[in-house]
Amino acid sequence: MHFVSTRGEEKVNAPQAVLRGCASGGGLFVPETFPPVSEGELADMLPLDYAERAAYLLGKYFDEYDMEGLASALRNAYSKFEGGDAAPLVRMDNGMYMLELFHGPTCAFKDLSVGVLPYLISEGKKLCGVREELLLVSATGGDTAKATLENFAGAEGIRAIVFYPEDGVSKMQKLQLCTQDGENVEVIAVRGSFDDCQSALKKMFRLEKYRTAIAEKGYLLTTSDSVNIARILLETCYYFSAYLDLVSAEQIGMGDKVDFCVPTGNFGNILAGYYAKRMGLPIGTLLCATNRNSPLSDFFRTGCMDTKRPLCRTMSPSMDVVSASNVERLIFEVSGRDAQLTKERMKELSSTGRYTLRAEEIAELRRNFYADATSEDDTVECIYEFFEDYGYPMDTHTGVAMNVAQKYLEKLESDTMSESHPMVIVSTASPYKFPQDVLYALTGNDVKDSFKGVKRIHLLTAMKVPEALKAVRYKPIRFKTAVSPEKMFDALLKFLD
Ligand SMILES: *Cc1c(COP(=O)(O)O)cnc(C)c1O
Repeated sequence: MHFVSTRGEEKVNAPQAVLRGCASGGGLFVPETFPPVSEGELADMLPLDYAERAAYLLGKYFDEYDMEGLASALRNAYSKFEGGDAAPLVRMDNGMYMLELFHGPTCAFKDLSVGVLPYLISEGKKLCGVREELLLVSATGGDTAKATLENFAGAEGIRAIVFYPEDGVSKMQKLQLCTQDGENVEVIAVRGSFDDCQSALKKMFRLEKYRTAIAEKGYLLTTSDSVNIARILLETCYYFSAYLDLVSAEQIGMGDKVDFCVPTGNFGNILAGYYAKRMGLPIGTLLCATNRNSPLSDFFRTGCMDTKRPLCRTMSPSMDVVSASNVERLIFEVSGRDAQLTKERMKELSSTGRYTLRAEEIAELRRNFYADATSEDDTVECIYEFFEDYGYPMDTHTGVAMNVAQKYLEKLESDTMSESHPMVIVSTASPYKFPQDVLYALTGNDVKDSFKGVKRIHLLTAMKVPEALKAVRYKPIRFKTAVSPEKMFDALLKFLD
């Protein structure tokens, strides 16, 4: 499969797209076509486990790779998940389904995709004949950062540096980051936001002087953030798998439509759902659930993207994103794959902070998506009530999605013209990753110490505490450096010295 840039004349194969991370001039790689998956193929995948289903689907994109190698890398990555299933689907008593994507080594859904990158990258190096060492950078939120560290610590021929927004992570996330093992990794706090981190990352890819400085040290730059197309393709697999699990459990018939509600920040996860739909998975509506920092709910309503807005810290820090990178891939699709137009819009976005879609593009968005934002109070209320009513604790990001899904279903009830489908809530993190806020939502109590929060949530809910988070408590703090966004590149060069 070939990959093209959202901003113009560039075409590469799969290993090149993985290794490059970003296309030139700031564009993003997207698959040249969406390989169709027929109903017969879906039926063939029913008896397979998660890793086997993923191998089947990804084979369509990564055809330059050795299929046996890919299958065993997937098996290996998902064997590290507690409980043995990488993406279990749990039925709630209110008729919804939770797609639990947090049973991996870092307790957030990033494990499902980042866990397979070491193989795709190291094998990609061989396929492309690259001899340099790779410098892997992550500069977005705390969950991608941790998944990157965990999966690349000790990797040969690769050094990994992660930047995270100093005040944009929970205490538990920060502990996970700062206690990381591994001689080839570096962790830097940034005195800025998710958006500051990400725009610095994009600059490193876009500007020649940065790439040259890295090359002079003998490294090739790539990224584990969701600007890397491999992340998105890996994430399409759990939409398929959830669908197949619903068919297997006789909750739906093959071909019936299903809706997914996705807690959204950088628009990677939900874009993967859209790609799955384009490949032929019977998805009805994709619900884009955000906290109030995101302009996406206005964007889907009006077609006007306006990123000129203040950022405030919320209980769902991994979604505290104003300018979501992967929207570029979406508008590229709805424009009829017009790279010139996409390029102009991105230029407008960086100079004025906004751009507007045409009417037929907005109509295409509405055919596929529904978007809404949630206040902090509503998220807290929703987590509390859901636990009271159904005994199921969820994390603060998943709480945003649940609240949006509930509001959506109420709206459908009053509007008999619209069709409702079985609803899957994509659950992106373990409640124990955000123990203080989750405890507050469940009980109204504040605790200063994360582990006290963990203990109380456990007493209240009896939900198993992930081994990985227990271990963090006794590990020494290794990383303490904090820099301003302007100094990120200096910190990176220092790491390479
Ligand atoms: C990364 C993250 C999100 C947002 O996902 P995007 O792909 O950036 O939209 C939501 N919830 C959690 C817990 C995350 O770590």
